[in-house]
Amino acid sequence: MKIKDTVLILGIASILILIAAQVIIIRGVWKQNDEMLFLRYRSLSQDAAGSLRGRRTFDPYDTVKFILRNWSEIWVNELPLITDSTKMAEKQREIFEFVEKALNDEQELSGYLSSYFEKMGFEKDFNHRIAITRFELIGADTFNIFSNESMGFRRPPGREPLSATLQGSKSTIMVSWQHLEDNYYLLDFEYYIDFSDKRKMILREISASLGMSIFSIIVVVVIFIFAYRNLMEEKRLSNLKTDFINNMTHELKTPLATITVAGKTLEMDMIRAEESKVLETAKLIGKQSIHLNQLINMILEISMWERTQFQLDKTKVNIEELMNDIVSSFKSGAGNNIQLIQKYNFSGAKADIDVVYFTTLMNNLLSNAVKYSDREPVVKIEGITEDKNICIMVEDNGIGINKMDQKHVFDKFYRASSGNIHKYKGLGLGLYYVKKIAVAHGGDVTVSSKPGKGSIFTVTLPY
Ligand code: ADP
Repeated sequence: MKIKDTVLILGIASILILIAAQVIIIRGVWKQNDEMLFLRYRSLSQDAAGSLRGRRTFDPYDTVKFILRNWSEIWVNELPLITDSTKMAEKQREIFEFVEKALNDEQELSGYLSSYFEKMGFEKDFNHRIAITRFELIGADTFNIFSNESMGFRRPPGREPLSATLQGSKSTIMVSWQHLEDNYYLLDFEYYIDFSDKRKMILREISASLGMSIFSIIVVVVIFIFAYRNLMEEKRLSNLKTDFINNMTHELKTPLATITVAGKTLEMDMIRAEESKVLETAKLIGKQSIHLNQLINMILEISMWERTQFQLDKTKVNIEELMNDIVSSFKSGAGNNIQLIQKYNFSGAKADIDVVYFTTLMNNLLSNAVKYSDREPVVKIEGITEDKNICIMVEDNGIGINKMDQKHVFDKFYRASSGNIHKYKGLGLGLYYVKKIAVAHGGDVTVSSKPGKGSIFTVTLPY
């Protein structure tokens, strides 16, 4: 497995472990807060219910008692008259539901608790539930309307004992148990509260630790992404450097080999006897030496840029005249089978340009347009002025550059399609040079291209 894959897998695994650990911690804190909240409200509500007991003036069940007193008398008279057992069951169920509703709606304990909680600085919104455990109507006969099953009494068909489920629940708190009794009835019930907003309350309590753990996870993830990208970038650069050294060796060796062979040729008596051959070989040596010199200068210059700022020696020049000069001298050195088409619309614009560097920039673009071609090169050079910019487009009908490579062609040492690297010679410095020069002039260079169709390089310079 490659190092980058190992780093990626290890990194992602550690982040997942970190997230899992944080989730476990937060769940623990949540549970603890949940229990604390339960205990806090239980003691608070029981205190509140206790404080009621001493009061003579306020009874939260006054209205309920009044309703029950009146209705129980009516029911006690009604029930013995029902002979049919289904009708009896129906009636008892109706009575039970009436009592349950009256208890829930007419009690005033909830209001009292709510203001008590608020006074003590706690959450005042909660739901109440009332669970009847026993209800009897007592006349000549006693009617067991409802009884908790655990107590051995029967209950109306279809009714579950509510209090059993409530007592088992973690979010409901039993506040009080109540016994009401009058001439015709007997009623036992339990009063519960539950906080529907409990999640929100816990969230508020643990927001600091939750926030910190989310923050720390984000920081770790961001640092990991940065570190991983840096690692990848370093790796890419080191690969580029290796490629560069291979290319450079190759590039330098070619003229050197030619010079060596030419030197050996000159040693031969047969060759020296013919003046034209001597001249030809000397020219070859001269040409290859110049090429060698150019290569070495280019490398030296770039390494100098790295250490010092790019120094331009700008003069005001007529851009159209300069372009014509550059293109015609390129044409004379490039051979006859190349078509160079120029079309300028600069309207006599003049720009501050370092002529030497700008010439190098254009030569690099033109020689690439010719070099990266697999047919007779046709290169269009167009120029316009646009707002405050001069735009120069160099369009070729060459091999083109795919989308991935387009992003990197201006990088130092970058060469597209490494498979073909020796088919088209180069060091991957030409476009890097072009970009540097354009930017140093306050401009830029961009590329658009279609593989197989050709490329357009656009240089913009301010004027
Ligand atoms: P070099 O030509 O020395 O490799 P450059 O920096 O000039 O380096 O170019 C970088 C890469 O961009 C080249 O290797 C080539 O793959 C691609 N490239 C540049 N110009 C063109 C072009 N006109 N058509 C197709 N590919 C190009």
